[in-house]
Amino acid sequence: MNSIYNYTLEELEQYFLEHDSKKFHALQLFLWLYDKRVESFDEMSNIKKEMIESLKKDFSIERLKIVDVQEDKDVCKYLFELADGEHIEAVLMRHDYGNSICVSSQVGCNMGCKFCESGRRKRVRNLETHEMLLQILMIEKLLRERISHVVVMGIGEPFDNYDNLIKFFQIINHPKGLAIGARHITVSTCGIVPKILEFSDFPLQINLAISLHAPNNEIRNQIMPINKVYPIGQIMEALKIYLIKTNRRVTFEYILLKDINDSEACALELSELVKDMNCYINLIPYNETNNLDFQRSNTIQIMTFYDILKRNSINVTIRREFGGNISAACGQLRSKKEEL
Ligand code: SAH
Repeated sequence: MNSIYNYTLEELEQYFLEHDSKKFHALQLFLWLYDKRVESFDEMSNIKKEMIESLKKDFSIERLKIVDVQEDKDVCKYLFELADGEHIEAVLMRHDYGNSICVSSQVGCNMGCKFCESGRRKRVRNLETHEMLLQILMIEKLLRERISHVVVMGIGEPFDNYDNLIKFFQIINHPKGLAIGARHITVSTCGIVPKILEFSDFPLQINLAISLHAPNNEIRNQIMPINKVYPIGQIMEALKIYLIKTNRRVTFEYILLKDINDSEACALELSELVKDMNCYINLIPYNETNNLDFQRSNTIQIMTFYDILKRNSINVTIRREFGGNISAACGQLRSKKEEL
């Protein structure tokens, strides 16, 4: 059955109007779900009995099952089971500025990035809006703390599940929903150009991150098959439009893979590629996985790469490492579970 957590406030207003009821009930319902956090329709005491019956008939209010939790210092990884028995993961990171959660957007992923564990399993299906949203609600309930930051960087390609993603953003950002500020939300894409363009018209000021991982098409084609469909030039053109329309800054993620994209020449080429762009580069030490052959660059190489970007006046940071001990990189927990 259709989950009640799939609906934006406006859609619920429409539902009440269509059921000969008043639109303001939608707001009451929203408050029950996202303020009081009730888990059954019967608890919604200010909504009429007949309306409750109709809600029960039309929507489910089921949550997800948490089937595994692994904790390592300031990182906690959750494995969820969905209604159809599929598994997805979310990772909680505790920062000094608040709790941040990395949510999944699909079961499996079709992008096939060679270094990524998630891509070993083809996309089975998109997550519905409620399956993304409940990752947050359920972790908040377990923690008894608020999640202040959300990154859509878990399993899946969010721009390959665009409509459900947009509704997810609308609900979590809504002041009567989870009220997570748009500037505290980030979506990461491998570079689906038409969706980058569409996203540049989306009114919320959500941060955009691009998984670049290579300074040229030759290297990117080897590690990211999607580059053959949307090569770097097209991504850069789309980003120019995005930057003009939104007046925001874009982030490039760049995993450093030993002997593949971590040379000094690559650092120079990358500097050249992004210079004059309102962006910053997040260098990511690769999280090695048993199933794939890639290796992380050594620390000296990482620092040299960083220095070259700095010297070329590029805004750059090295991602603080989280969760190596609990296989927190994309897709690793689910693969472990399925090997068991
Ligand atoms: N499909 C989206 C979001 C999911 S991947 C995207 O491509 O951006 C989220 C980020 O984690 C991407 O930058 C991805 O390249 C990176 N990633 C995947 N496997 C990794 C690993 N083993 N170590 C470090 N980063 C990894």
